[in-house]
Amino acid sequence: MSERIQSVKGMHDLLPADVAYWQRLERCAADILGRYGYREMRIPVVEKTALFKRAIGETTDVVEKEMYTFEDRNGDYLSLRPEGTAGVVRAVLQHGLLYGPPLRLWYIGPMFRRERPQRGRLRQFHQIGAEVFGLPGPDIEAELLALCARLWSELGLSGIRLELNSLGLAEERGKYREALVDYLREHLDSLDADSRARLHKNPLRVLDSKHEGTQEIVAQAPRLSDYLGQESRRHFDALCGYLEALGIEYRVNPHLVRGLDYYSQTVFEWITDRLGAQGTVCAGGRYDGLIPIQGGKPWPGVGFAMGLERLVELMKSAGGQLEDAPAIYLVLVGDGTRQAGLQLAELLRERCPQLGVLMNACGGSFKAQFKRADRSGASLALVLGKAELAEGRLGVKFLREDRDQENIPIDAAAQWLGRWLAAQQQR
Ligand code: ATP
Ligand code: MG
Repeated sequence: MSERIQSVKGMHDLLPADVAYWQRLERCAADILGRYGYREMRIPVVEKTALFKRAIGETTDVVEKEMYTFEDRNGDYLSLRPEGTAGVVRAVLQHGLLYGPPLRLWYIGPMFRRERPQRGRLRQFHQIGAEVFGLPGPDIEAELLALCARLWSELGLSGIRLELNSLGLAEERGKYREALVDYLREHLDSLDADSRARLHKNPLRVLDSKHEGTQEIVAQAPRLSDYLGQESRRHFDALCGYLEALGIEYRVNPHLVRGLDYYSQTVFEWITDRLGAQGTVCAGGRYDGLIPIQGGKPWPGVGFAMGLERLVELMKSAGGQLEDAPAIYLVLVGDGTRQAGLQLAELLRERCPQLGVLMNACGGSFKAQFKRADRSGASLALVLGKAELAEGRLGVKFLREDRDQENIPIDAAAQWLGRWLAAQQQR
């Protein structure tokens, strides 16, 4: 036998037990996004490397060291997408969708970053993101945050707090950057090596350093909020007012900056303390500066991306069993019962679409089949043996209840199951 090949480090399989949580999350999010008027779009997993370099910024960790980039056979440089916004913006520009009525869009899918794998941090991970184009105001930001809050609540997740900050306009941030660099230069010796390297390339990133010594220096640093102009301040205050009106709690975190360079005005993160160090489950903000970078005329953009691995972990830790849809198992023993079973299973799938119908395949004794029925998780076994087939009836065995077996005519099976399903739903 040859050696078994294992999956790539940081890229995980999702087994059926996990997928149940993923599907619940994905369905709930798709449903809520639809109710808010967001429409899904699907973009390729691979884009030209130049797109990410431009949109995310050459000095970011993502572009500098985390992208999976390769040379195509014709010499093009391509990358696995590390995030979704760049591709969505490319697509709306390319298809001429951008400069019309406001667009509310969402996407879902795998993203790739070559980071050090650890809890909540993978090399292939998944995001659901929303992007809104054409709306410059803080009201749409409040809507996006309300949408997130609704998702947490419909998923039964608590303890996810919202942190907000304003990055102001590019010009305001430029002035602040100078003041920040001047200040940090005076404390160069106390900064960690990463922050020293960032000082010239991307000094705002120093603000969210996790290094203790750097954090102490940062605590005394000039504040971005002191550099905001009237318009930026008004924008941010209005957002805070809307959140209060909606009863959405938040905390202003003056050190919150995003790793990606294209943000302006509002930035936010939803954070939990229940996942260890990787506690940010959703991050986003306004990126009015991105579209010109990608060759479009200026246009407002705002959005978020949530990390599905982290949300699934929260769902699991929140406890509570996922309810499987009710299912039955067809036990088929004896000549002629396989064909009759195939037909009956199809009939039931037609008539009772809410019901999972598992058919025993490839025979086996009664005992073996009941064991399979039990392991399948089905609530009922419908038993079709030679005798039952001859008499046109079915045995119904309750697998999860202490209840006597019943006998029903095959012709009436769909009606009987319909009544049983209705009774199940009442409970
Ligand atoms: P972090 O500070 O955790 O590295 P980030 O700023 O790089 O996050 P974004 O690019 O804003 O993250 O992505 C949005 C969300 O996607 C994050 O808040 C997180 O939930 C999730 N995410 C990002 N990178 C990873 C990863 N490598 N593995 C799992 N989830 C991730
Ligand atoms: Mg990151």
